[in-house]
Amino acid sequence: MKIILFILGVIVGLLLVAVIRTLLLKPKKADYKFSDDIQRSMSYGEKLSRMLQYETESHRDNPEVEKFRGFHKVLEQEFPTVFSCLEKIEIDGNIMMKWKGLDSSLDPIIMISHIDVVPAEGEWLYPPYSGHITDDYRIYGRGSGDIKSGVFSFYQAAEELLKDGYTPKCDVYLGSSCTEEIGGDGAPKLVNWFKEHGIHLFMLSDEGGALVKDPVAGIKGTFAAIGIFEKGYGDLKFSAKSTGGHSSTPPKNTPIVRLAEFENYVEKHNPFKVKFTKAVDAMFENIAPYADSFLLKMVMHNLWLFKPILLKLMPMISREAAAMLQTTICFTMQSGSNGYNVIPQEAWVTANLRYIPFQGLEESNALIKQIAARYDIETEEVLCTPPSKALDLNGVPFKMTEECIKKIFPEVGIMPYVVTGGTDSRFFDEVCDNCVRFSPICTEPDQMNSMHAKNENIFITALPMAVDYYKELIRIQEQR
Ligand SMILES: [Zn+2]
Repeated sequence: MKIILFILGVIVGLLLVAVIRTLLLKPKKADYKFSDDIQRSMSYGEKLSRMLQYETESHRDNPEVEKFRGFHKVLEQEFPTVFSCLEKIEIDGNIMMKWKGLDSSLDPIIMISHIDVVPAEGEWLYPPYSGHITDDYRIYGRGSGDIKSGVFSFYQAAEELLKDGYTPKCDVYLGSSCTEEIGGDGAPKLVNWFKEHGIHLFMLSDEGGALVKDPVAGIKGTFAAIGIFEKGYGDLKFSAKSTGGHSSTPPKNTPIVRLAEFENYVEKHNPFKVKFTKAVDAMFENIAPYADSFLLKMVMHNLWLFKPILLKLMPMISREAAAMLQTTICFTMQSGSNGYNVIPQEAWVTANLRYIPFQGLEESNALIKQIAARYDIETEEVLCTPPSKALDLNGVPFKMTEECIKKIFPEVGIMPYVVTGGTDSRFFDEVCDNCVRFSPICTEPDQMNSMHAKNENIFITALPMAVDYYKELIRIQEQR
């Protein structure tokens, strides 16, 4: 009895501490206002429109280098000062501009966004390569969100700074691959160029995070989601073999049954470790003051107490958030025999894995291979890349990013997070320790969903601040 009372006392005590800590936390509001400078927005929108009118779809089996060189010409027309003052580096349709700074002994910075887009399918409200601007300031076009708006914004920032006679403190590169959407070798070629020239980069700014609305259930407002690291990527193929035979006299444990048992096991018993990383800790800590309910605020602000519960609840709250806590696996393609009455000699299923740094490529693959072997299934690694390095939350590049965001978007909340998709920045780990995955363009949820889908669009009134953000990122290097 005494022990029970003691345990109850401890629990009440801990909860009391959590409640007091939550009451002491000052509530905050996160807000973002689109630009009311319509003239500036329109002139930017028209430039972006011309960039969108030039189709730059990338296809895995067809490099189309000349098409991308044609797009470089569009850039040259829109940003003549950049092209007359900066050194152009072109590698197989990928493009980089080098802006010489005052002190070339400092490690340079690079701003990157890819120029290729995914194919445009389906019926659109406005044709995907029209660059149409509506009366409510939406600009439609494949690449408007992902991510010619990014390319536009840093080129425009450089164009305007150059016209003002500005010279950056360190060398500044503007870089664009033409193979991001097909996971091609464009970015690696740019990285090789840096390696060949013995250049180590101080920081990189790429897509990955953005200005997002209502990022998690119960958290309202606009947040700058800064990608701290990127999960790894793995395509695996699992094959089960047999001697085949006729389905009228079926044996036990045919390949399809074994695959099904394996898939079922993996789905039911999550084999991967579930854990908070520094990035996820920081994410909850940062967004806690914005929570609309006391309970949510208390949970997020007192991770020391509630982490074990959150680990269990996360998959129910948000799939996106759950994917930030572990290596994930998803079965994607499957095949057996070619006849209704034929037992396959070999059946296979493929899976796509996304590796978390604390249980990376090798450990995750070994684990899944081991489970597959229990069902007499062979595993083949088709294409696997490890997770990226993590950005140091206490490092200068992260602090600089925060400072630029606070200056240009004073009312938004800041939210470190984990990039579960893939970007070009992962290739830059070899030449850069500080890859910041944040694009300064604010999108509504419907616009976010239109990327890689129909009716891709953004607001042109998001562009002026995006340009200002990149200007600030260049200027803030003076602090070094
Ligand atoms: Zn993209």
